[in-house]
Amino acid sequence: MYKISILSGDGIGPEVMEQTLRILDKIAAKYNHQFEYKPAFIGGVAYDKFGKHFPDETKEICQNSDAILFGSVGGPVSKLHEPKWATCERDALLGIRKTFNFHCNLRPAKVYPELANICPLKKEIVDQGIDLIVVRELLGGLYFGKHEILEENGQRLGRDIMEYREEQIKLIAHDGFKIAQKRSKHLTSVDKANVLDCSKLWRQIIEEVAKEYKDVQYNHMLVDNAAMQLIKNPAQFDVILTENTFGDILSDSAAVLPGSLGLMASASLNKDDFSMYEPSGGSAQDIAGKGIANPIAQILSAAMMLKYSFNLLKEANVIENAVNKTLKDGFRTSDIYSDGTKKVGSKEMTDEILERI
Ligand code: NAD
Repeated sequence: MYKISILSGDGIGPEVMEQTLRILDKIAAKYNHQFEYKPAFIGGVAYDKFGKHFPDETKEICQNSDAILFGSVGGPVSKLHEPKWATCERDALLGIRKTFNFHCNLRPAKVYPELANICPLKKEIVDQGIDLIVVRELLGGLYFGKHEILEENGQRLGRDIMEYREEQIKLIAHDGFKIAQKRSKHLTSVDKANVLDCSKLWRQIIEEVAKEYKDVQYNHMLVDNAAMQLIKNPAQFDVILTENTFGDILSDSAAVLPGSLGLMASASLNKDDFSMYEPSGGSAQDIAGKGIANPIAQILSAAMMLKYSFNLLKEANVIENAVNKTLKDGFRTSDIYSDGTKKVGSKEMTDEILERI
């Protein structure tokens, strides 16, 4: 029995969540698991009911569950000045990240061969196969050091402190290697060890932790080279492990490769192995209520939950393979549609995936 907080949120969130729960129900029936869903309010819908974007009632439900499956939050771009929406994304997402101390962010980027036409890279690069995951440290480095603008000798001076403690690097290093063990057992640690002492320490600790994961092959890469390689030869990567700032930039670069936000899942983990899973995109208010949103990002987020929170590797693979097969068989929501394929809505896409599970 697994207790899952269901935080559908706003816009397309509830639509794609409804479809994802159909997938989880089928997995539960097929493999004899019990998923207990605990719905809770987040974002604009929470503001309407409780006057807060991340109310205590929701926090409590999350605290009493085994994982969080999150949809998306936020209002239409034209209404972001209204009180209901102005701080919605920040209050909801930062609130939940802070409450649970998520120190590790996972962003997979896979280019489906059938969707090579929507990847911005050349066909011969895509044909080598792009299937990687960026593992980013979330609670350390530049973003959490002291920030200031001061005056020195009549000149303004900007200063941001970058710090990493040994324990922070060890924690994320173990995550990275464990994730590599669940994938192709290859890890690239990205740093700037030719310049930064934080990176020199990072590299030392990666070397130490690697000794505990003899089955994982690893290499180090400087971040400037990694940025180039992501465009020139992304097929060489499986797990990219990196610190906060580099991870922010590289995960957004990698996110462009699959071609649509509707395909992109993500996860945030804490040191007690408690995690939240969500699509990388937002509430897509421009298409909300039309039944056309791509449910794959939310469905793959649920597959990540099975893999990383519940260790149900086979079940996660079954979902991933069913998604692959559905795309291979030519079914497309409008965000990934091209001539000669079959255009379907959120429900029909899910029907097809269900049929292939
Ligand atoms: P967005 O990510 O919601 O949408 C960007 C574009 O991608 C839109 O054209 C949208 O239709 C498309 N898209 C996204 N997901 C899709 C899917 N599953 N299927 C098909 N198309 C999809 O970004 P935005 O429009 O700039 O922001 C809308 C709202 O979402 C804002 O209020 C913003 O604050 C919020 N937001 C929330 C999150 C989150 O909840 N994690 C992340 C980003 C933005």
